[in-house]
Amino acid sequence: MSTLINGIAASAGIAIAKAYRLENPDLTIEKKAISDIDAEMNRFDAAMTKAKQELEIIKEKAFEDLGEDKAAIFAAHLLVLSDPELVNPIKDKIKNESVNAEVALDETAQMFISMFEAMDNEYMKERAADIRDVTKRVLSHLLGVTISNPSLISEEVIIIAEDLTPSDTAQLNREFVKGFTTDIGGRTSHSAIMARSMEIPAVVGTKSVTSDIANGVTVIVDGLDGKVIVNPSEQTIADYQKKKSDYDAQKAEWAKLVNEKTVTSDDQHVELAANIGTPEDVKGALANGGEGVGLYRTEFLYMGRDQLPTEDEQFDAYKTVLERMEGKPVVVRTLDIGGDKELPYLHLPKEMNPFLGFRAIRLCLEEQDIFRTQLRALLRASKFGNLKIMFPMIATLDEFRQAKAILLEEKEKLVSAGTAVSDDIEIGMMVEIPSTAILADQFAKEVDFFSIGTNDLIQYTMAADRMNEQVSYLYQPYNPSILRLVSMVIDAAHKEGKWAGMCGEMAGDSIAIPILLGLGLDEFSMSATSILPARSQLKKLSKQEAASFKQQILSMSTSDEVVEFVKTKFKM
Ligand code: PEP
Ligand code: MG
Repeated sequence: MSTLINGIAASAGIAIAKAYRLENPDLTIEKKAISDIDAEMNRFDAAMTKAKQELEIIKEKAFEDLGEDKAAIFAAHLLVLSDPELVNPIKDKIKNESVNAEVALDETAQMFISMFEAMDNEYMKERAADIRDVTKRVLSHLLGVTISNPSLISEEVIIIAEDLTPSDTAQLNREFVKGFTTDIGGRTSHSAIMARSMEIPAVVGTKSVTSDIANGVTVIVDGLDGKVIVNPSEQTIADYQKKKSDYDAQKAEWAKLVNEKTVTSDDQHVELAANIGTPEDVKGALANGGEGVGLYRTEFLYMGRDQLPTEDEQFDAYKTVLERMEGKPVVVRTLDIGGDKELPYLHLPKEMNPFLGFRAIRLCLEEQDIFRTQLRALLRASKFGNLKIMFPMIATLDEFRQAKAILLEEKEKLVSAGTAVSDDIEIGMMVEIPSTAILADQFAKEVDFFSIGTNDLIQYTMAADRMNEQVSYLYQPYNPSILRLVSMVIDAAHKEGKWAGMCGEMAGDSIAIPILLGLGLDEFSMSATSILPARSQLKKLSKQEAASFKQQILSMSTSDEVVEFVKTKFKM
């Protein structure tokens, strides 16, 4: 029988394929006294053999599909499994203490992990991560549970998961992963944002897909309306195939606007830019008619690996993006790690409230080596295109001044050493924290531009975690409190002759677009796939008419009232 599950539409499109459950199995272990030591040894050896065979297959597959770098990770895991310094103490423990293999493995591994983690040496810290991974794999065989290996997927699937981290998402193979759906998460969680840039249909925050969907059943992910259909009938499949082809036809209509400028019906130009996470995303930005990159989330360069990217690796990535954009503006945001974007190899302490913690510019001002390396890479790349740099999560003027001073210091050093650096790099900041929106008139005197990050600005203004589907009703981009903050930022920028953009998801939202046009927003930066629908909408809007509603909208009292008004006035 078919079942309908409702969730949050996170990435547009329709996908129909078999379910692939991304398992995160329970690896809890119990201590047991063992009487038959030989049998326990054999059980341990058998689990080790299975783990090695599995790793050999994964290594081969990673080599073929993902290249030598990724394969090297699994080669390192195989080495750990063959290391007598780890294996012998486990066997000794089983023999001498008569404990079960799970406990012997876990206690021995924990001892090595703590030892390596305490060392002041990045290489040794990475070995701790390898041991942790390998232990998990052997444990899964001892306990008879399955851990998923998404890198091995070789047929079309829809991923079913409790949650996907941004690095899980980055590793999804676009050829086979047709869609995904999760129990938790909201429209602005980073896995949702990445799904949009990868053009993978997704529904998040369903609360129940992992309990309701078995491996291998047919699933439809409707990323347009936020629905998941499990075990659909022939008729439902046919209906959704029709919905998919209608959507494809609509996309073909939008595609005709790809080389056009974005001009309103009263001939006013606004800039439509793309948000990207990797140099590969530039293809999608250009194919969708992006007039620039309004947000390059550089943190993805730091994720899905086990050490910091070098200055040269970063230089290559930034140069590639600037060159591929051929002189169009590229706003690069400096490292914004923290919140839902973790870097395990930095070994930062766990925090009670990661979104309010040691993240983004706070971390960069403290860990200046990391920050300065990135700034040098950016400055060196600046000659290859039209670079603008902005700092994330600024809360105070002092933070902006410090970040800018460090950037100028690095520039000075490079220039003195004879390195060519562009002379007209604009330096701006993101407005994501209410303190900066409220004080935007002061910031506007010192920045070259603002980019409003509404994903965070809304979560901080409403005090509602953007990852938590229970409070997702508080993600209210049209709430007049948010609109007033946005309006203050735009007005403050214009008063100082600066420009104001928006790179939060709100910038591509069809209800928000007429409001933002009326508030005077200069640049709208969004997921690449939202650009053409936005251009099509803006071409039909009059900026003057939209501006005439500004005061009326800003004096409304609820989000619903604003939505009702926009729908009526703009005939939506
Ligand atoms: C934002 O907060 O709106 C933003 C664009 O940054 P991120 O989504 O990466 O936090
Ligand atoms: Mg943000």
